[in-house]
Amino acid sequence: MTNFFAFSGFLNFIVSLFLGILVYLKGRKIFANKIFALDAFSVVLWSFGYFFWQISTNPNSALFWSKFLMAGAIFIPIFYFHFIVSFLNLVEKYKEVLYGGYVLSLFFLISSFTPYFVRGVEPELFFPFWPKPGIFFHPFLLMFFSFIVYGWYLLLKSLRETKQTIRKQQIKYFLLGTGIGFLCGSTNYFLWYDIPIPPYLNIFVSLYVVLTTFAILKYHLFEIRVILTELLVGGMGLIWLVFSFLMPTVNLRILTFLTFFLFCIFGYYLIKATYEEEKRREEAERMAVQERALRLRTERLAGARDQFILSSQHYFRTPLTSIIGYLEMVLEENLYGKLPQKAKEKLNNVSQSVQELRKRIEESLSIVAFQAGKGILNLEETQIEDLVKKAVEDLRILAQKKNLFLKLKLPKDSLPKIKLDKEKITEALTNLIENGIKHTNEGGVTIGLEHKKEKNSVLFWVKDTGIGISKEELPEIGKVPFQRGKEAKELTLLGKGIGLYLSRLIVEAQGGKLWAESEGIGKGSVFYVELPVK
Ligand code: ADP
Repeated sequence: MTNFFAFSGFLNFIVSLFLGILVYLKGRKIFANKIFALDAFSVVLWSFGYFFWQISTNPNSALFWSKFLMAGAIFIPIFYFHFIVSFLNLVEKYKEVLYGGYVLSLFFLISSFTPYFVRGVEPELFFPFWPKPGIFFHPFLLMFFSFIVYGWYLLLKSLRETKQTIRKQQIKYFLLGTGIGFLCGSTNYFLWYDIPIPPYLNIFVSLYVVLTTFAILKYHLFEIRVILTELLVGGMGLIWLVFSFLMPTVNLRILTFLTFFLFCIFGYYLIKATYEEEKRREEAERMAVQERALRLRTERLAGARDQFILSSQHYFRTPLTSIIGYLEMVLEENLYGKLPQKAKEKLNNVSQSVQELRKRIEESLSIVAFQAGKGILNLEETQIEDLVKKAVEDLRILAQKKNLFLKLKLPKDSLPKIKLDKEKITEALTNLIENGIKHTNEGGVTIGLEHKKEKNSVLFWVKDTGIGISKEELPEIGKVPFQRGKEAKELTLLGKGIGLYLSRLIVEAQGGKLWAESEGIGKGSVFYVELPVK
């Protein structure tokens, strides 16, 4: 049996030596890593002594190695604590504690050469030479557990506060590693106090070094769940295997071995499933991070765009207003003298183009402003009949030029007042009437207003006898800017496909709805605007 314990010491020795060197070489630049390497070397000294103590054949040698192993163990808790506070960037805060811890550990180290730390060795259970505590051993034990527990507490605290995923993972590994390592290592202390529990779990001490090293050196860490599953499956598998050898009959041995084999298959799939699930979760997390970054970027861009809209209105308007002003002044006969007829004609053309340019700029900027939800509305109680009457009158000449009738059907009773932006809604409704005239060659355009009492809304409609809209184009009408119907393109090349889109934005910004109906090509169309009465 003692061979098993000697082996556990040997295993801890080899693992800690190898990983301690690895951490030291790989993480030399990081202070916390150096401290951890020191802690791993303390475990090396301890397990080295542990091995020779276990294989000692006489009390003198056993006592010597007991003292040796304890001398190694004395610095484990303070190095561990130092490592934790360095990792958490708390060294400044715990400077005094660290200082005190080192002084105390040094004191225990000196005392470990005297009989006051290890008083002697005695037989315990199946061990021929188990060390017995001297007077200083008890406060050492207190210090040992205080540092371990306090380090754990600090780790737990920062686990809750840390937001970085990788750091969180690292902390989880530290917690697990130190948890297993120190709990298992502590099983050594029972026999010092005659409690008959042998240190079966000593063999797991090096897991502390393994998990911590892993967390320090590996950038990418798997979720602790995967490691836990692996440990559980591995541990159970080991026990199962040992059992199958211990079975009394060959038949039972074969049976247990077979079940062990089945367990291995099951374990393999369990680990694989946990691993895959973890990978999926990590992927989802990564995508969430990317999405967040993208959203932030979009928000920033939207902010920049809104700023652009607000400043560009002013930016474009100012020079245009002066051009129009100067043109008017030049065209004014009395101001700078008479212009030659040809020049006057050309300047009139310039004036018209500039007005058109201004209209287009205003429209485009309004569209962008409404799209961005920044369209500024100047709402006031409005008697909508007045606006519509005026719009119809303004367009009468256009209709007459095309020999079209232009009728307005008003309800008998006056309509309820609606809160509207007069200027903008006039723009939208005028555009619909103008479109009716534009897209009609024979017949004419009828405009109507109705009070929809059941819906508490006002319905405005424009019905023409024009080119109509095909069934395919109907649902899309006015939903996308710069979109023009096939028939309309044939009728006139002038359109821009902007007016209807802007009208829809204006209507919707005031809580209304805009839609079109048509029986088909050549059968005329009706455009509706429904505005709620609030
Ligand atoms: P534009 O008239 O400058 O082309 P609009 O945005 O006002 O731009 O209209 C977009 C398109 O909607 C038009 O090109 C045409 O295809 C269709 N449309 C608009 N009004 C009518 C109408 N009264 N009859 C038939 N089609 C229309």
